[in-house]
Amino acid sequence: MSGFFGCVSKTDCVLDVFYGTDYHSHLGTKRAGVAFYSKEKGFQRAIHSLEDGYFRNKFQSDIDGFSANSGIGIISDNEAQPIVLTSHLGRFAVATVAKISNLSELEEYFIKQRRTFSETSQGGVNPTELVGMLISEGETFEEGIVNVFNRIKGSCSLIVLTDQGVIAARDKLGRTPIIIGKKDGAYAVAFETCSFSNLDYEIDKYLGPGEIVMVNADGHHQLRKPSSKMQVCSFLWVYYGYPPSFYEEINVDESRYRCGAAIAKKDDVEADFVAGIPDSGVGHAIGYSNQRGIPHMRPYAKYTPTWPRSFMPQNQQMRDLVAKMKLIPNTALIKNKRGIFLDDSIVRGTQLKDNVVDLYSAGIKEVHMRIACPPLTHPCEFLNFSRSRSNLDLATHKAVFQLTGIEHHNMANYSDTSNGNYAAMVEQIRKNLNLTTLKFQKLNDLVEAIGVPKENLCTHCFDGSSYF
Ligand code: SF4
Repeated sequence: MSGFFGCVSKTDCVLDVFYGTDYHSHLGTKRAGVAFYSKEKGFQRAIHSLEDGYFRNKFQSDIDGFSANSGIGIISDNEAQPIVLTSHLGRFAVATVAKISNLSELEEYFIKQRRTFSETSQGGVNPTELVGMLISEGETFEEGIVNVFNRIKGSCSLIVLTDQGVIAARDKLGRTPIIIGKKDGAYAVAFETCSFSNLDYEIDKYLGPGEIVMVNADGHHQLRKPSSKMQVCSFLWVYYGYPPSFYEEINVDESRYRCGAAIAKKDDVEADFVAGIPDSGVGHAIGYSNQRGIPHMRPYAKYTPTWPRSFMPQNQQMRDLVAKMKLIPNTALIKNKRGIFLDDSIVRGTQLKDNVVDLYSAGIKEVHMRIACPPLTHPCEFLNFSRSRSNLDLATHKAVFQLTGIEHHNMANYSDTSNGNYAAMVEQIRKNLNLTTLKFQKLNDLVEAIGVPKENLCTHCFDGSSYF
C-alpha cells in the first residue's frame, strides 16, 4: 500500500504537508517524498528511504528549507516518488497509490516510441514516472489522467501538483480512497482522514470512483464526474485503515466494532476474557466484548517505544522476527484462563501460530480464535498490498493441499460456507494453528458490518468476485 497528502493554502503549507503526510506512515515502509511549488522557488522536492528511519526524522531538516503555498507528500511502500516531470502540460509533480500489473507492456509501448525513462525502481522502471508519462499524453491533465485509468491494469489513485493547485484523481473503481478536507484559507487532499483532525481540517468531500477534482486555496471544482461502478477495498475497514479515519463516510473503528459484534451474535463459546491481536484486532475485540458482555482484556502488550509500526520490513524473515519481538504476553492475565482472541484476518498464519505458542507457554488453558473476515482464498490482484501472496502461501490453500494433495486454483467450493469443504478447510487451519476453536466471519455479515453495498465493495480476497 502507500498513502498521500496534499495541500493548497493562502499561507505557507509546508508544515501541513509535513504532518499530514506523516499521518500516513502506517501505509508504507520503503520510501517517502514531498514536493512543493511556489512562484518564487518553482518546484522543490525531497525523497528519502524509510527503511532505516521514520518520515518525521528523515524530513525534518529538509522542511526547514522549503517555503510554498502548495505541496504534496507520499509514504510509499514501493518506488521513490513524487516524480517531477516537464511536459507540454507544464512542469508538474505526481504521486500515486497504485499497482500496475501491465507495467512491462506499457514500458515496451513507450520504448517503441523512443521515449526515455530516467528513474528506476527495483531495477525496473519507476511506475509513478510511467503514470506521469501517460498523463503527459493527454491534451489536458484531465484527459491524461483518463488515459492512465484506461491504460493501466490494477489500480491507481493519484495527486498532481501543478502551478495552479493540486489535482486529485481517485482510482477508476475507487479501490483506494481520496478525501478533501478544508479549513480557513486552505484545502487538503488525503488517503487517510485521520490526518485532518490535528491540522484543523474537516472533511469536505469524498471523491467517487474515477472522479477528478482540481483543488486550490479558494475551493475545488470537478474536472470529471465519478463513475457508477465502485470496488472499494474491504480491507480498508478490516485491517489497514487507521481507526479514526472515514471512507465512504464510514468510520474504520465503528465498522470494526460492528464486525466483532456480528461474530459475537453467532457465538456461544465460554471464556474468561476477550482480546484483540494488536493493532487491528483490537477494534474487532471491543465490538465482540461489548456484544457478549465478556470482559475485554489486554493479555498482550505491544512494545511501542521501539516497535511502533504495524507494517514490517520487506524481508519475510525479518517481518516474522519483528512481529514476535514487539508483542509481550502478560502471564498475570493469561495463566489458567480461557481466552477469545479476535484478529483481522489469517493470511499465512505463521505469525498467529507463534502467538499461540507464546500463549500456551504463558499457561493459557484455551485459545478460541475469531477472525473478522472470511478465509482469504484469492490473492489480491488490484493493490500493492504487502499481504498479497502467491496461492500456496495462503493458510487456506495450504490447508486444502493438505486435505486433498492437490494445489487448487479454483477455491469456489471452499469459499461457500454451506459446503462441507469449507468446514473441512477451517478445521484443517485450526489444527495447523493448534487452536481450541476457530471461526471466521461470514461474508454477508462482513459486508453488513462495513456498511457499503456488496456490489460497491471489493470482496475478491474472500470470493474471487472482483474485476478490472
Ligand atoms: S482483493 Fe482484497 S485486498 Fe485487494 S482490493 Fe479486493 S478486498 Fe482489497
